[in-house]
Amino acid sequence: MVPDDLEVKEEEGSNMEIDVKSKNDNEIIFIIRDADFTFVNAIRRICMMEVPKVAIEDVHIVKNDSAMFDEVLAHRLGLVPLVSDAEATESLLLPEDCDCDDTCPRCTVSLVLKKKGPGVVYSKDLVSEDSKIKPVYDTIPLLKLKEDQEVELEATAQLGIGLDHAKWEPTTACAYKYYPEITIAETCDECQNCVEACPRGVLEFDQKTKEVKVVDVENCSMCKSCVRVCETKAIDIGYQEGNFIFLVETDGSVPPEEVLIKACDVLSKKADSVITFCEGGI
Ligand SMILES: [Zn+2]
Repeated sequence: MVPDDLEVKEEEGSNMEIDVKSKNDNEIIFIIRDADFTFVNAIRRICMMEVPKVAIEDVHIVKNDSAMFDEVLAHRLGLVPLVSDAEATESLLLPEDCDCDDTCPRCTVSLVLKKKGPGVVYSKDLVSEDSKIKPVYDTIPLLKLKEDQEVELEATAQLGIGLDHAKWEPTTACAYKYYPEITIAETCDECQNCVEACPRGVLEFDQKTKEVKVVDVENCSMCKSCVRVCETKAIDIGYQEGNFIFLVETDGSVPPEEVLIKACDVLSKKADSVITFCEGGI
């Protein structure tokens, strides 16, 4: 039987609200209300560390006449973001989920680079056997070739997660902060020092009403520069318990909303294994 207090907690949890503040191809900022920070932090960590993306893992260098060492070139290739959205990776398996002994076309994608100098070799010169899994950006410089210098290599890319190597992290920034709350008391003497001290344009002095106004509370980083310059101690920076501003920025390999969906899938699977364990009898 479920204890009464557990039921109350479930109800509280179901009130969570989400509002999207801004969104583009590589970044999403949204506000979560009435959530627990442990839950928000779990999502953040999974977005960074456990959502798979494709990256180059092995490089077979046939020829490299350039001044760049083979291992430096291989490392650089590993960091080139490759398209890894759901559509591109639909039929690609994680190496640990594949039943092959080493590598096979079901768990790896091959990319070939062959170029003769002079000139700069860019990420667009990497030719993939899979038209969907290719470099996200065309103009990442890889190396420089002088007259008659050549580079020839074959690279194999595979799915992986950030826990194993940072090159498999789909996010370049993934963070949340408490929703700031700024209060200005009546002791304010309109000196406007706080308006000038704020590095992010959060405060403004209203010439009509002659008072300091909060114009962009969500941009506040809680640095408290305003608090330090206020001689009358009229301004206070706090935060709203349970409300967060969450940012997910990706390297372009996976759309940010897809990172979030996959992170929730991972979390849900973890919860499922606990359920299976409990139902199996402790
Ligand atoms: Zn395989």
